[in-house]
Amino acid sequence: MASSKAHHATGWAAAVICAAVVVKHGGAGWQWGSVAGFVAALFGSTAPDWMEVAWWSRSRRLWVTHRTITHWGVAWIALLVGAYYALGTHPLAAPAFGFACGGVMHLLADWPNPLGVPWIAGRHSLNLWKSGRCDLIIVAASWLIAGAVSYDIWFQGKLSLAFVHHLRQGGCYFDKRVRNHPESSICAGTHSIIPSLNANPPAD
Ligand SMILES: [Zn+2]
Repeated sequence: MASSKAHHATGWAAAVICAAVVVKHGGAGWQWGSVAGFVAALFGSTAPDWMEVAWWSRSRRLWVTHRTITHWGVAWIALLVGAYYALGTHPLAAPAFGFACGGVMHLLADWPNPLGVPWIAGRHSLNLWKSGRCDLIIVAASWLIAGAVSYDIWFQGKLSLAFVHHLRQGGCYFDKRVRNHPESSICAGTHSIIPSLNANPPAD
C-alpha cells in the first residue's frame, strides 16, 4: 500500500472534495451533509485496508487476501456514483458519498505501486514506484484535485459568502419555499428572497 501517512493525507483531500460536492449538490441539508460526508471520507480513505482485518478475532489477521475484494474498484465507484445521485434525497447519501470518496482516493493512492489495484477484474498497476515511495506526489495530486473541485467555493467566495449570510440570518431553511428551491437555499439572494417571502407568506 501507499504509506498510511499518504492515505491519511489524501483522505483529508477526499474529505474536502466530498464537502465541496455536498455543498453544491446536497440539497437543503447540505450543512450537516457536508460535515457527515467529511468525516465519512476520512474513514473511507483507510477503509480498503482496515476492512481486510478480522478485527473480531484476537489474531487480527486478514480475513481476505490483501488488495482483493476490499479494493475492488467497481464496488467503490458504484457506491460513489449511486450516492452522488442520491445527494439531497436521502440523509445517508452524503456520508455514503464521503465514504466512497475516501475509498476511491485510497485506490488511486495504491494504484501506482507494483501490487496494483483490482479496478474491474485482476489487479492493474501503473508500476510507477515502489510502495511508500513518492508519497509526496500522490498527496500533492490529491490536493490539486481537491483544489480544482472546491475552487469556486473557497476562492470565488460564492458559497462561502452564502454560508456567512446563512449564519447571520440564523438559517433560512424553515420556509418551505426556500427549501423547495435549492438554488435559493444558498442564501446568496437573502436580500431579495426573504423580503419577498415575508411580503407574500405561503398559503399553507
Ligand atoms: Zn490499500
